[in-house]
Amino acid sequence: MHTVTIEAPAKINLTLDVIGKRSDGYHELETVMHQVNLYDRIILEARPAGIELATNSSQIPLDQENLVYKAALVILKKYQPGAGVKIYIEKNIPVGAGLAGGSTDAAAVLAGINYLYDCRLSRQQLLEMAAAIGSDVAFCLSGQYYQPRPGVLLGQGVTAVARGRGELLESLPARFIPYILIVKPDFELSTAQVYSELDLESVEQFPDTKSFLQVWNKGDIINISVYMANVLESVSIRKKPEIGIIKSRLMETGALNALMSGSGPSVFAIFSDEEAACRAYRVFKKDYREVYLTSSYSRSEAVASKRNPINYGD
Ligand code: ATP
Repeated sequence: MHTVTIEAPAKINLTLDVIGKRSDGYHELETVMHQVNLYDRIILEARPAGIELATNSSQIPLDQENLVYKAALVILKKYQPGAGVKIYIEKNIPVGAGLAGGSTDAAAVLAGINYLYDCRLSRQQLLEMAAAIGSDVAFCLSGQYYQPRPGVLLGQGVTAVARGRGELLESLPARFIPYILIVKPDFELSTAQVYSELDLESVEQFPDTKSFLQVWNKGDIINISVYMANVLESVSIRKKPEIGIIKSRLMETGALNALMSGSGPSVFAIFSDEEAACRAYRVFKKDYREVYLTSSYSRSEAVASKRNPINYGD
């Protein structure tokens, strides 16, 4: 039977700025997204007809509401009419967390079906379909494109500045961040609601994206952490003060900096050493079910030497 397995990594937002409101109702964004080594696994199996979903998660829909279903429908209808697919989602990324779990699954399905049925779509065609499915899908797809074929990775995760609704991407040089701790509290936040409650007038700290990009290019982790900022934090922390408490506690455990990802509620922290990161992991694991000690997304020992490690300034 013809099957394909694909890794679908989560993202964190190292910066997130809202530049303004557009006439179509969406917000104009400027955000730096970075893929981390926490991923769902998507298994696709060719079928003569229909789209069938299965998963190990009790938290995601298994009908047309699943972004994966939408992605499969769009690409099959247009490029492989009459064919079907069975999709298994091994869910490891927390749901409704601000880590783009649904978007990355959808991107993996687009890339996977392109391979499964040998549709030979260009990067541009895939990116256009991705952008029509959801704001973060194009970014996630740009990571899939580094795979010569699904399941075979070139070894680098993607980092990009996303603008517009999130679909206008500018790739950044790859940098490897070795210790990232993600804490997802036991509640979800609606992305739409957080954006609708954003009042730019009352935001206290806007990211300095230009300076962030300068330090990112240098690979200077101390300053990368200094310039991390997210304008949505003010809204999400007002709605759920626990997010602010997690941030403060992460700082107390010795993080270089801690920030909410996307519209939350996940908070991630960057650490400079393994010992401090492991200590923080143990502290948070006592109080939270979903805690992940991870790093940048990266694969293949063969390319390890070509990684561009973050320099710690020593
Ligand atoms: P983003 O960071 O892109 O805003 P998120 O991480 O906050 O996304 P998701 O995990 O993508 O949020 O889930 C948001 C909603 O989408 C959930 O309520 C979930 O039921 C629904 N959903 C649909 N398909 C999926 C999927 N494949 N994986 C996760 N959630 C999905």
